[in-house]
Amino acid sequence: MDKDLLWSNILEKIKAELNSLAFQTWFSETELYSLDGGIAKIIVPYAIHKQHIVNNYKDLLNKILLETTNNNYELDLVLKEDIEEDEKGSIIENFKTEEKSETYKISSNLNQKYTFDNFVVGNSNRFAQAAALAVAENPGKIYNPLFIYGNSGLGKTHLMHAIGNYIVRNTNKKVLYITSEQFVTDFVSMNKKDENGTNFNYIEFFKQKYRNVDVLIIDDIQCLGGATETQKEFFNTFNTLYEDRKQIIISSDSSPNDLKKLEDRLKTRFGWGLTVDIFPPDIELRAAIIKKKIIGEEITKPIPEEVIEYMAATISGNIRQLEGALTRLVAYSATWGCDITLPLAEEALKDYRNKGIVSEKNDVAKIQKVVADYFQISIDDLRGKKRSSNISFPRQIAMYLCRKLTDESFPKIGIEFGGKDHTTVMHSCDKIEKEIKNNKELAKTIDKLEKEIH
Ligand code: ADP
Ligand code: MG
Repeated sequence: MDKDLLWSNILEKIKAELNSLAFQTWFSETELYSLDGGIAKIIVPYAIHKQHIVNNYKDLLNKILLETTNNNYELDLVLKEDIEEDEKGSIIENFKTEEKSETYKISSNLNQKYTFDNFVVGNSNRFAQAAALAVAENPGKIYNPLFIYGNSGLGKTHLMHAIGNYIVRNTNKKVLYITSEQFVTDFVSMNKKDENGTNFNYIEFFKQKYRNVDVLIIDDIQCLGGATETQKEFFNTFNTLYEDRKQIIISSDSSPNDLKKLEDRLKTRFGWGLTVDIFPPDIELRAAIIKKKIIGEEITKPIPEEVIEYMAATISGNIRQLEGALTRLVAYSATWGCDITLPLAEEALKDYRNKGIVSEKNDVAKIQKVVADYFQISIDDLRGKKRSSNISFPRQIAMYLCRKLTDESFPKIGIEFGGKDHTTVMHSCDKIEKEIKNNKELAKTIDKLEKEIH
């Protein structure tokens, strides 16, 4: 039997066994590539399909293959481009030797220190990490561009390098990590006359550097500045890469819509793929990060659990400061030649307090009161179970503000709102966050509430 016909028969049988969403998602784009030597080679669209099909439908596929062909096959799920790459291999080699003589050595600028392995995941960064990994597994395929935003020191740069390192390790794609400032510098040099007479072809260099990559990672896009010429060039670079289905990953300290100096057409494009935000870490994540750093930095001096708890509780908001505090603590104990204890930690971190880095905590109760007053409902209702929208909407706003303005974790906020599940809190935060972007009135209201709370 023709293999396409055979596969469509098999698909019919699979379809009968699954609900339509599952069939559509996992099988509608599959093809049978070959049935040789006891192996059924099946082409799937993305790497996530491989894993998911093997984990969930292996037995079903084996059964149906046996029924249809009277043979047992081992499954081999492959990506289309893997097969195309194999077939094209020799042609690519030939082509390469004919490339233009003028090639510039361009570094990927990746910092190997930052990987997925040493990125600790918690509620505040779980979504961003999952999106980053999905992109790392399928560059250019699913979320393009990937836009990561959040305050300084929360792990954006770390995640971006992790994506780049992952791609470099697992594929032969060309990756370029760059800060916006570097992009501006390169652009400015391109437009400078070659004053030194070195014949260095800046235009060619710029083109090769930015247009010749498979993955462009551009950090801190808010620093692209207001210079329209630079923005225009970035716009062109973006378009070229996007049209070629090259992966673009962007980070910023605010959401695309809040990037004040950026042209609208750029903001629009930034929203084409997936936008994810990273929140400040909650206390559990802070403690987990400290523990990971102790191992990663090979700190051999024992650090008691109570010291870790103390640090996680006092240094809040920003992971960079947390790292600084740990370094300082270790340096303290080394200088004084003493063990790390709670009194030593209190002494070592005193300066952090004095510099005002230890954030002043807002109070959930205060936020609840301000929100309840504003919407003229009772605090009991705000914390209760009523679902009518005149109550549930203020409740969602209050949850969002608690997450934003206090140091409490999602589960803890859930408890403060009458024992709600942490997923409810996350959902509310997400919903309000999204709505603020499209609803100016709401944004204004939230702004007003925030001012009142502070
Ligand atoms: P941003 O780019 O958002 O300002 P960075 O990526 O530079 O933040 O992170 C600051 C520091 O905190 C880095 O040293 C990074 O390794 C560390 N860091 C941030 N998030 C995590 C995390 N989830 N797990 C481990 N380290 C983290
Ligand atoms: Mg950064």
